Amino acid sequence: MVTGPSGAGKGTLIQLVLPRFPELALVVSATTRSQRPGEHEGVHYWFLSREEFAEKIAAGEFLEWVDYVGNLYGTLDSEIDRLREQGRAPLLELETDGAIRVKRRAENAVTIFVTAPVDELERRLRSRATESSGVIDERIETARRQLELVAQFDYVVENDNKERAADAFAAIVAQALDGAATMAAQ
Ligand code: 5GP
Repeated sequence: MVTGPSGAGKGTLIQLVLPRFPELALVVSATTRSQRPGEHEGVHYWFLSREEFAEKIAAGEFLEWVDYVGNLYGTLDSEIDRLREQGRAPLLELETDGAIRVKRRAENAVTIFVTAPVDELERRLRSRATESSGVIDERIETARRQLELVAQFDYVVENDNKERAADAFAAIVAQALDGAATMAAQ
């Protein structure tokens, strides 16, 4: 499970690390936020209306879900089941509250907190500029709060240099996959 503030580079690191582990697969979350240019349905997210999302909450289809800066995001149980049926290890990318909730329910889940210095986070969020400036300010404020939660996670990866951070991330994933294989063999 990968968590950390928006702008820390979780997505970039995941894209660098995923190709190194064919058995690892990224879980596609559902969200009510609007699709950004270059994002595809079923690849980056399942883009749902609020009504569709609410129906899935009522039907108990989410492992976890959150309201993050005015939009809903959630992990569908069906997405995790689908990957497990393929014999693959699911990798979840979540904001911090969702990650804490999943960790409580699945103690064996390994959590990696990706972080970057606050001024760097702010610079990245502003340069992304796909959201209005009010939303960006709110994301920066949320990022500051999320940085305080670091102690709740198993590993911290400082994303100051993306190649170095990707190597550190990959080493943790290798160890976690090894641990999972050992557990499955017992
Ligand atoms: P973005 O709008 O930038 O794609 O995502 C905003 C935040 O929501 C990011 O921190 C991302 O990790 C988080 N996020 C994406 N999918 C999920 C999810 O299924 N559950 C939770 N709790 N957070 C998610």
